[in-house]
Amino acid sequence: PSTRLYGLIGSPISHSLSPAIHCAVYRAAGIDAVYLAWDTPQEKLEERVKALRNLAGGFNVTIPLKEAVLGLLDSLDEAAEAIGAVNTVSVEDGSLTGYNTDYLGVAECLRGHRPRVALIVGAGGAARAAVYALRDLGAVKVIIANRSLGRAQRLAEWSKSLGLDALAVSLSEAAGWASRADTVVNATPLGSEACCPGEAPPVLDGLHEGQVVFDMVYRPLETLLLKRAREAGARTVDGLCMLVWQALYADKIWLGVEPTSELYEVARRAALDAMKA
Ligand code: NDP
Repeated sequence: PSTRLYGLIGSPISHSLSPAIHCAVYRAAGIDAVYLAWDTPQEKLEERVKALRNLAGGFNVTIPLKEAVLGLLDSLDEAAEAIGAVNTVSVEDGSLTGYNTDYLGVAECLRGHRPRVALIVGAGGAARAAVYALRDLGAVKVIIANRSLGRAQRLAEWSKSLGLDALAVSLSEAAGWASRADTVVNATPLGSEACCPGEAPPVLDGLHEGQVVFDMVYRPLETLLLKRAREAGARTVDGLCMLVWQALYADKIWLGVEPTSELYEVARRAALDAMKA
């Protein structure tokens, strides 16, 4: 039996938690596989994907390549095609199939919650995955608040094509909508160490009890947004939840490993250890 090889492409990825997460899953599930980080800037993408066609395994795709990789694959699953972003690629006999497990990560982290009216801050690929997941969870209305209104309007139009009631608003209107929403999602880097620690999307005044507040940022684990949401009595979900579940769903595609809450706990602990290291 040969060791299977998986990895991550994107840039910068030297501090990625994905190797720790996947290796913990392989250890816990008794699978002979390794997971590496292959730093790949945009201009090296084509060359990298060509080399990975010979892999016995698959790879994840992260910033800034999730959309650019689409054109280099042989086929796409339905969700990846609809969302227009790929974070997981399986390689079989030299053929590449793209999937989106980010939206499955969002859905899993919101399990048990019945969203109806959701405010999403951000309008990039992660926001699109959130809209797709919220639609699956039964949301009826999404409000997209974004720095550039044009991008928010495009995402709102796309949301309508999925059958949702949708509205695009400016960031200055976000707090007003947060007070009316049962779900608030931050799909921007606001509050992250890389962007601007201690900042938050401008929704803090609208946070309240009974709401679910989900921040895709995971460095720091408790952002200002989540701290204020917790203090307001809302249920909080951190970005590490999504990162771990999207990884578990990638392993399901590649290896058939069933994503369970036990594996989630093991992988989350490994990610937290790697964050401290
Ligand atoms: P994109 O680059 O596609 O989109 C970024 C979004 O953030 C845009 O809406 C952009 O607004 C907004 N934005 C960026 N900087 C600022 C700022 N300073 N102030 C206000 N808005 C800002 O990125 P993605 O959609 O792929 O990712 C968004 C975030 O989600 C990232 O921080 C990423 O790390 C995180 N993420 C986390 C995951 C997880 O597993 N936890 C998975 C995927 C993403 P504009 O359109 O105006 O430029």
